[in-house]
Amino acid sequence: MTQTPRKSHGRKSISASLQPRDLMAETKLKGAWTAKIITLFPEVFPGVLGASLTGKALKQGLWALDTIDLRIFGEGKHRNVDDTPYGGGAGMVLRADVVAKALDFASRGTPQDRAKWPIVYLSPRGAPFTQAKARAWSEADGMTLLCGRFEGVDQRVLDAYDIEEVSLGDFVLTGGEIAAQAMLDATIRLRDGVLGNEASTEEESYSNGLLEHPHYTRPAEWRGMGVPEVLTSGDHGKVAKWRNAQSEALTQDRRPDLWARKEDYED
Ligand code: SAH
Repeated sequence: MTQTPRKSHGRKSISASLQPRDLMAETKLKGAWTAKIITLFPEVFPGVLGASLTGKALKQGLWALDTIDLRIFGEGKHRNVDDTPYGGGAGMVLRADVVAKALDFASRGTPQDRAKWPIVYLSPRGAPFTQAKARAWSEADGMTLLCGRFEGVDQRVLDAYDIEEVSLGDFVLTGGEIAAQAMLDATIRLRDGVLGNEASTEEESYSNGLLEHPHYTRPAEWRGMGVPEVLTSGDHGKVAKWRNAQSEALTQDRRPDLWARKEDYED
């Protein structure tokens, strides 16, 4: 659902009192974990989040999505949202005043406490996104995500609104939308009822500081390859031990950085 103030009333309507549609959005907030997404491309949402388990959960009302079209808050007849960078250089920068209006609109009816309602700017300069971050966000009431475009956002609005910058990884995307969908996927699947099988998030990669063990399913023999014998032994204790050993070996081999931090996950 795209949440936008009415265009026909001009820019002033943005700060006008709540429209019936906004009241609906607020009522919804009380029930479901809500993602508010500020973007120049609201049409790309829910995107991949509309498929499979996150899509089913969205339809069931286990979480809600409010996209906020940044363009609506733009300046002048052309609703400009960006301008050239002070100091020169390539590209355009999203204006602080325009982004602030969208953030103010998004914050209606949301808790001030950032633990209950994180406000995040998707940014390659941000702290790397982790499973721990997804877990913390999933325990909030919802969150606001600001998707950048062009060269990014005027620093002053990031400072003024105490916005958390989070990165999907050490690479540069064209915009924040794919990063927002990736992070929301990781977050929403941790909410009760989304996966169906609750136990499955506890043994996954990263949850205990280790990468997950390998999986096997039928056929029992494929291209001359069988499956590790222990998995067909029916001995649950042995299976658990084997899986744990595999997890440890994989983590040591592929992610020595994770392995070195393993103590962080142990009591
Ligand atoms: N000039 C910026 C890159 C801008 S990319 C720099 O060098 O840091 C345009 C937008 O894409 C950013 O504003 C951000 O919202 C998004 N983006 C790009 N890479 C990202 C990443 N790794 N993680 C999250 N968001 C990213």
